Amino acid sequence: MLRCSPRTALAATATATAALAVAGLSLVAAPGASAGTLGRADNAANCSPGAHTLAPQGSHVYPDTGNGGYTSLNTTVHMVYDAAGNLFLPGNHVVLTDRATQCLTSFSLDFERRSVNKTAGPDMSVRSVTVDGRPAAFRFVQPTYPGDPHGQNDPNPLAHQASQLNPVGGPRHNPLPPACSPELTSTSAARQNSANGTPCPASKLVITPSTAIRDGSVFTVSVSYTGRPGVHNDGDGTTEGWFRSRDGGFVTTEPVGSEDWMPLNDYPAAKPTYDFFDTVGAGLTAVANGILSGHASHGPDAEFAHGSVTWHWHMRSPVASYLVENSIGKYRLTEHTADNGIRFYQAQDTGISTKQQARNRTIMSLQQNITEFESQFSGSFPFSSDGVIIGTPHASFEEEMETMITFSGGVIDTDTLYHENMHQWWGDNVTEGGYAMTFYKEGLATLAEELYAARRAELAAGGPYSVKGRKAFQASLVRQFKGVYGAGGTFWTLAPSDPTPYALFDGNPTYARPGAAYIALRQILGHGNFTQALEHIQRRYGGASITEPELEAAFRHWLPDPSAGCQARLSQFFRQWFDTAYAKGGGASRPRITGPGLAGPGFYGVPGCRHS
Ligand SMILES: [Zn+2]
Repeated sequence: MLRCSPRTALAATATATAALAVAGLSLVAAPGASAGTLGRADNAANCSPGAHTLAPQGSHVYPDTGNGGYTSLNTTVHMVYDAAGNLFLPGNHVVLTDRATQCLTSFSLDFERRSVNKTAGPDMSVRSVTVDGRPAAFRFVQPTYPGDPHGQNDPNPLAHQASQLNPVGGPRHNPLPPACSPELTSTSAARQNSANGTPCPASKLVITPSTAIRDGSVFTVSVSYTGRPGVHNDGDGTTEGWFRSRDGGFVTTEPVGSEDWMPLNDYPAAKPTYDFFDTVGAGLTAVANGILSGHASHGPDAEFAHGSVTWHWHMRSPVASYLVENSIGKYRLTEHTADNGIRFYQAQDTGISTKQQARNRTIMSLQQNITEFESQFSGSFPFSSDGVIIGTPHASFEEEMETMITFSGGVIDTDTLYHENMHQWWGDNVTEGGYAMTFYKEGLATLAEELYAARRAELAAGGPYSVKGRKAFQASLVRQFKGVYGAGGTFWTLAPSDPTPYALFDGNPTYARPGAAYIALRQILGHGNFTQALEHIQRRYGGASITEPELEAAFRHWLPDPSAGCQARLSQFFRQWFDTAYAKGGGASRPRITGPGLAGPGFYGVPGCRHS
């Protein structure tokens, strides 16, 4: 993701939805249950509700998101959408195929059906839920802070409050951790703690099947819902989700806005594959992740007076919760297939001026070349397609939706395309294990921008096959590192790996600092080893997610000097660059390990690590 500047101001008023968690239902196993549900041989006493969050204990960045007790395998979206009314119609539903990782009496999904934002926020209703084809009970509850010893149905209202911080604080001095992140309606820094201590909305959709679900079994959940999709008010006051456009909706959702248009397991590390069957009015186009498998036209009916069309997109690779794309509108959609078989899509809203569309097309057409350039660092492209969609709403950021990058406001730019396209490897194929690791993938996407600047310098100096060109490439990276390392003031005061919801997309800790750290890491490992490390991570964690210790271990493996001294120094390097909040100012109040040839104290030449 790359935030635009200035951030979009919001019009909605802050009225947090108050709702109390209700006591959990318990179910005993019914004899003679069908496949997937509990049979006689199972011990009902071992069955329990799935966790209502995947966030770790103590988390204060979207601690309410994700759901435990199962793994998400596939989601099939069956959208029936009236673009003129911006409404999901009867028949609209999603089918989630999951595998139980425990015997489940109940489980949950994330679904923000109503929001503090009464104008652009969602207003949807669940009509029915089935599990393996049988009607299931459902209800909405508030989230509970992760690790609550009184359980996720804790009757204490303080266990269900929003905050930027841990503990909650707020006007009642709540000493407990936050259960959700505030939905701010202002981007003002002075207002960032204004919603601390407000009740979390009841956005956990808890589903109780008629019989418990056996551990290890694959089961399908169908949720039918109607109404208006919308945007989520984020922890920094910006919005994301389903943006209303002239002819439909434009979907761009990081970090949690997918649940504002569909129920899902809303956590980065939960990565099902996707199919989309979008039925919309004739003349409209649906654009989603993966490959367009086809579309079928239907004649007029009660819902679509002028006929309709069902678009089928298939995404065979897993997709993180915030990278699901599904926009509807009057899009001009084209495709071409590269020599290596990768299909490239281009989609633009036809409401964009003809002149601007032509300008956009010139930049979109660079995507294949950018992909080849970035493959030199990250390894072969991980997906069978790639693409760009340019919508008209102003969304305050551009986003790396998997294989279908979103640009808002009708305009694309080359630098941001390098950034978002790099995310296809970093964030999309290898996803961060949780929100606090957002810096990991934003740092690598920032590195792509730095590499692009170096590439331009190289071309100006004679190109990649000349000595002068290669020197210019390296000199550009060094210059860019110095620019960051020289920063003072408050630049180093936030630790990248310990963000608040308000600062999650702060340019200094989440983008520039880790971006510079990767340049330093490339100097430490050497270009060849750095590239090998990146490619190794893609192979090892592709299609899944990675934790910070796993990331650091992967780089440690590629140290040219594997001595214990150098390993320890690299651990120290990561602590300084990723995990440390420094006092104001530069100088000594910033990382004290950099890399060979860079400003600041180098990596080698200290006792125990003398390789150079
Ligand atoms: Zn980004």
